[in-house]
Amino acid sequence: MKHLFSPWRSEYIKTFSDEKKARSCLFCRMQREARDAENLIVWRGKFCFVVMNRYPYNSGHVMIVPYRHTSRFGKFTGEEHAEIMKLTAKCIEALEHISKPEGFNYGANLGRTAGAGIDKHIHFHLVPRWNGDTNFMPAIGQTKVVSEDIRRTWKKLKSEFKKLK
Ligand SMILES: [Zn+2]
Repeated sequence: MKHLFSPWRSEYIKTFSDEKKARSCLFCRMQREARDAENLIVWRGKFCFVVMNRYPYNSGHVMIVPYRHTSRFGKFTGEEHAEIMKLTAKCIEALEHISKPEGFNYGANLGRTAGAGIDKHIHFHLVPRWNGDTNFMPAIGQTKVVSEDIRRTWKKLKSEFKKLK
């Protein structure tokens, strides 16, 4: 298996005695694999990565995911918090350039009760919004196939990210 650059890893092993648990985590698997195109990873930062949501609530739905496997918001360091925000700003800028959204929904579902699909690994959703898109959202919310639209947006986002500083 190919090992990727992973500054968080030594700490991660120290923190989690049951590494197997983390191995079954989708976000942990994605960050470990060298299959960014298949996994729709847009960008890898130092502490977080950006990935397209396969089951989008709207076109361009991305997630900002810290590498650290934790369900505790308070576990993140100042650097991690800073990069979450920095990457969010980059995503907004890139999406504004690509598809000119009129607004965004941004946030995290903390805990299963709050609606988190993957509650053990905190991640942040950024959903572009356009006037009048609300009726469209439930229809595409449960799409099981990665649509061409997602692949196209992934490609565009990737190249936008490279341009951004
Ligand atoms: Zn994880």
